[in-house]
Amino acid sequence: MTGPDAVVVGAGVNGLVAANLVADAGWSVVVLEQQPTAGGAVRTDGEVAEGFQHDTFSAFYPFAVASPVLTGLDLGRWGLRWRHAPAVLGNPLPDGTWALLTRDREADADRFERAHPGDGAAWLELVGQWDHVGASLMGSLLSPFPPARHGVPLLARLAREPGLPTARTLLSGVRSLGEERFGGQAPRLLLAGNAGHADFSPEGAGSGIFGLIMTMLGQTVGFPAPEGGAGALTEALVRRLEAHGGEVRVGVEVSQVEVAAGRTVGVRTASGERIPAARAVLADVSAPALYGGLVADRHLPDRTRHGIRRFTWDPATVKVDWALSEPVPWDPGPEVAPGCVHLGDSVDELTITAAQVSAGHVPARPFMLAGQMTTTDPSRSPAGTESLWAYAHVPQSVRGDAGPDGLTGDWDGGDAERFADRMQARIERYAPGFGARVLTRRVLSPTELERRDANLVGGAVNGGTAQLQQALVFRPVPGLGRAGTPVRGLFLASASAHPGGGVHGAPGANAARAALAADRRRFLSRVPRPGR
Ligand SMILES: Cc1cc2nc3c(=O)[nH]c(=O)nc-3n(C[C@H](O)[C@H](O)[C@H](O)COP(=O)(O)OP(=O)(O)OC[C@H]3O[C@@H](n4cnc5c(N)ncnc54)[C@H](O)[C@@H]3O)c2cc1C
Repeated sequence: MTGPDAVVVGAGVNGLVAANLVADAGWSVVVLEQQPTAGGAVRTDGEVAEGFQHDTFSAFYPFAVASPVLTGLDLGRWGLRWRHAPAVLGNPLPDGTWALLTRDREADADRFERAHPGDGAAWLELVGQWDHVGASLMGSLLSPFPPARHGVPLLARLAREPGLPTARTLLSGVRSLGEERFGGQAPRLLLAGNAGHADFSPEGAGSGIFGLIMTMLGQTVGFPAPEGGAGALTEALVRRLEAHGGEVRVGVEVSQVEVAAGRTVGVRTASGERIPAARAVLADVSAPALYGGLVADRHLPDRTRHGIRRFTWDPATVKVDWALSEPVPWDPGPEVAPGCVHLGDSVDELTITAAQVSAGHVPARPFMLAGQMTTTDPSRSPAGTESLWAYAHVPQSVRGDAGPDGLTGDWDGGDAERFADRMQARIERYAPGFGARVLTRRVLSPTELERRDANLVGGAVNGGTAQLQQALVFRPVPGLGRAGTPVRGLFLASASAHPGGGVHGAPGANAARAALAADRRRFLSRVPRPGR
């Protein structure tokens, strides 16, 4: 029985990127997706309220517009249009001001300067240094590790940029980075809050570089969102794939990767169907799912079986979507309306919240990431209303509640709703009258997030912790820092692989390139050499 050249398991952004790239190389490819719709964590739905579109999971895509992988697919040709809010990001502060980031560096520097003399020049210096190294840094991060093509030019540029935060500062904490450079609260909090998009505390190793990257991407490319909803990005990827002969089958759960003589030969679905793969299987599933069930233990070396037991998930998440009759009544309002909003009162508060989550306590004052989506893209809800979401991290395993409500982590038994009340109260404090504008809300508990996408185990948003001990060559397990797996012809294509979570398509592209290269080597090894 012949099948396609490649089977891709999972139609998340990484699966779809992988499928597009192998299709570009002339391979036939079928993508099998467990859910009724493609997209994984890049989907939009209209189930919260009539006329409102909500991104079920992710919403803002700075990585996508900075990623050579996704820009290389020219998705504008396939219908993708980007929208930007007037300001990129805002964080209301207890003193009645806002920490604001826009795409206008001079205006941001002016604002920082007014709040703390000296910070304006320090800001412009930092952004100027990013101009020199940003593209190489992104190229290095989004290519297989170690990054040969971009890494060497990056080292040369870093050597010529004496004022750039030292490797020591970047690899250490975003708190030190902010405190060494700025006297005011706003730039420090923007940097630290941006590190909180992954599971970094302000002191965490690697939080400096992550916070810097997110902040500088915000400054230079913004936090754009697809017109019509996150799902429009997925639709463009699917359209492009189908135009190149690929196929996406939804509602098909893969239950086994089939292996014969150390090589994958295809997959078996939960309904018992066998789908052979002539050249490769690319798995956009979590590493623990791949090495903890889909591939039978007997095909894996001890190193992988033992290594995967130590795989660390990032924290769980509670996400709330609101349909509002009017925009959020921030008081005082920001000078320029941001699309993305952080709710964290200070860098110290972020430290305390991260410590509570690490210690297994539901945070008393959760650090919240929110999205004002109609402010960003007016097509998301009727004129004069707002489609809003926010999420906050909670522990994967709850040992107590740092707040007053006695939450035990029984998310489906009412704790998710009560935690959503805690989140809503945080908004109400900065926007009195918020509750009166809520038409309806939907709470996605950690378990519900996982039900809607099996890769989001316990509501983990990044395919595994982003911390240094599980990054680069240590991702997903030490020694398997590349897309290749111990099974020939099988490649890990998901955010569990380097460089991890975020919508940039790099794990999918790395897997596709590794599959194509392995196939070329296989072909060449079979070509008889002259004289033999
Ligand atoms: C709530 C939330 C908010 C986020 N916000 C942002 C953001 O604003 N910006 C950003 O850049 N990133 C954000 N992220 C992270 C980003 O969305 C993910 O890192 C990225 O989408 C992961 O893509 P993926 O293709 O690796 O996996 P996924 O998107 O999880 O896709 C995996 C797919 O595989 C399918 N699948 C799994 N197992 C099987 C199986 N056995 N058989 C068949 N199909 C299977 C799943 O159903 C899913 O469709 C967010 C994530 C979450 C959850």
